[in-house]
Amino acid sequence: MKVVTTKEELARELAKLEGTRSLVMTMGALHEGHLSLVERATAETDHTIVSIFVNPLQFGPGEDYEAYPRTLDADVALLEPAGVDVVFAPEVEEMYPREPLVRINPGPVATVLEGKTRPTHFAGVLQIVHKVMNLVRPQLAYFGQKDAQQLALIRTMVADLDMNLEIRAVPIKREESGLAMSSRNSYLSQAEREDALALSRALADGKAAADASGAAGEVLAAARESIEGANVRVDYLVLVDPETFQELEAGAHGAGLLAVAAYVGPTRLIDNMEVSIA
Ligand code: AMP
Repeated sequence: MKVVTTKEELARELAKLEGTRSLVMTMGALHEGHLSLVERATAETDHTIVSIFVNPLQFGPGEDYEAYPRTLDADVALLEPAGVDVVFAPEVEEMYPREPLVRINPGPVATVLEGKTRPTHFAGVLQIVHKVMNLVRPQLAYFGQKDAQQLALIRTMVADLDMNLEIRAVPIKREESGLAMSSRNSYLSQAEREDALALSRALADGKAAADASGAAGEVLAAARESIEGANVRVDYLVLVDPETFQELEAGAHGAGLLAVAAYVGPTRLIDNMEVSIA
């Protein structure tokens, strides 16, 4: 496995690879959720490239860009036995030698939920995803369902800009407790880890209502009731159309996505779960 930090070194390593290649993009502080993407990628293509880059463009003012965990040595140690060919871990100056002038406009899906609280977030995500896809030119790229709205926006970008690759989604990896794995879980104290279970519990309670043939309104009510009184500050807890991310009417049927964002102490966590409404 080669670890490279410049676009030039990356190009040199890519030139040595024959066959299909996959891309897994991360911000590092790797956990089993990231590794589940890598596992799929290495199984389904000849070569896998993993990028590790804490992208300043996707953090808003007052967010945790500086505090975000950076654990490159540990990340490399996890990727080596996973069958990864190249790790691309550039510095900020390598990716943004100057402030980029041409920007990607992610469109309406980026204005709701995560995009409402973090208005510049998805434009920053798509900027780096487009750049790294251009540098790596993979046939396949893997993204986690954990960031469902991001995944949908990346699919839309790939379609609308005729980018020549396929996006594959990987299910959310959870702790045994139900907590969705996240690099930001490292911010949590032991007590906060317990409090954080309220998110996945609310989603599971909403899904149970859907599985018991509850209407959309009941599914959302069950999720909201579940999180009421928990020691978290809810940013949003909604039942949306999994493609448009618009909230479903109380009488809607079919596929839905329960999505939650909440502050556990100062840490903002997100989670989601697919539901099927009879
Ligand atoms: P991040 O490092 O948080 O930017 O995440 C990099 C990639 O890993 C994204 O595609 C995420 O959706 C995915 N990911 C993060 N956490 C999980 C998880 N618990 N399960 C599955 N995928 C995840």
